[in-house]
Amino acid sequence: MHPYQADQEHRRAVLQAMLLVTVVSALVFAALNFPDGMILVAWIEVALAVFAAGLLVVVRRTQRVQAWCLRFMLILLSATILLLSRPEISPFAFIWLLIIPLITHLLLGSKLGLLLSLGYMGVGGAIFLYRFGGTPELVRVEVLSNAIIAALTTLGMSHFYERTRERSELKLTRLATVDPLTGLANRMRLNDVFQWERAQAQRNGTPFSVLMLDLDRFKRINDEHGHEAGDTVLVAFARMLRERLREIDLISRFGGEEFLVLLNNTDGERAVAVAEELRQSLEQLAIEHQDKILKLTVSIGVAEYGPDGMDLDTLSRVADERLYRAKSNGRNCVCGGSYSQLEHPAEPPEPALEQ
Ligand code: GH3
Ligand code: MG
Ligand code: MG
Repeated sequence: MHPYQADQEHRRAVLQAMLLVTVVSALVFAALNFPDGMILVAWIEVALAVFAAGLLVVVRRTQRVQAWCLRFMLILLSATILLLSRPEISPFAFIWLLIIPLITHLLLGSKLGLLLSLGYMGVGGAIFLYRFGGTPELVRVEVLSNAIIAALTTLGMSHFYERTRERSELKLTRLATVDPLTGLANRMRLNDVFQWERAQAQRNGTPFSVLMLDLDRFKRINDEHGHEAGDTVLVAFARMLRERLREIDLISRFGGEEFLVLLNNTDGERAVAVAEELRQSLEQLAIEHQDKILKLTVSIGVAEYGPDGMDLDTLSRVADERLYRAKSNGRNCVCGGSYSQLEHPAEPPEPALEQ
């Protein structure tokens, strides 16, 4: 799966803010608790402050923000529970339980946020009852019902807020990265995935290739059968590409009837073979539109990362030049680099209308 982590930077910023608050408040509490003789509690707070300060350095660079958010939350919440269970801690400190839903949802999202909130608030509540169950003024119905309603309100609001935020983010990410007609990736997503693909290739020494596909005489479909027929063809072609290629390959709509595919872990020679399979598949595809069957072909240019270029601009230019050669060679064919010959089956005269 291609890692497209739209919310990584959002979480990183929240985590940094929370670490800063933890360092400052843990040090303030430690400074207040040492003179009061609460030595163990103060040391736990110092340890928390040191841990949070160290994490501030790690978090600035890491790609594993989510994992660090979880580690931080588990340690912070466990330390809080440990402190609340100490006999020298006053009942007022239990008020901190109320912010657990807020911080867990902000850092971990709606699912883990809810899970951790319920777990730690439940344990915190049980510790409160264990320690103060015998103190009538602290377990009066008004006191407990106030606490429970306040806890459920912060939990409900935090969960609702985070779910709404996650949904809108997903919607926006989709709008920004997906072509609405075909559901394929758009250029923005292509750029992102190319960076990832290149990093993989550099790290693991694996090859990858670029296919530039352009439908042959597509304009005639529009001219002869209308724009809607053209749209149907584009959608059918996109579906065919999705069916023939692997999950790990990126299929993008590059322009009107031009598509660019990134073939993961595929060298130029293999990419030419894949392109040839796609060419044949389209040749055999009968696309239904209203009561007509539309048929058309595709020309494909192939370029390989490394021999043909190291960046997306160069690779797509090389693939485009080869596509142009395929077109001038009569269309309905594949053109790769030196390792491949120009395949050139007979071109059907023009997009045919059958029936
Ligand atoms: P060639 O074989 O040389 O590629 O010829 P062609 O007709 O496919 O190429 P040309 O670039 O002349 O025409 C592309 C046409 O694609 C022109 C444009 O109106 C049409 N087009 C672009 N985007 C869309 C779209 O979203 N829907 C439809 N129906 N047509 C589109
Ligand atoms: Mg075309
Ligand atoms: Mg074109």
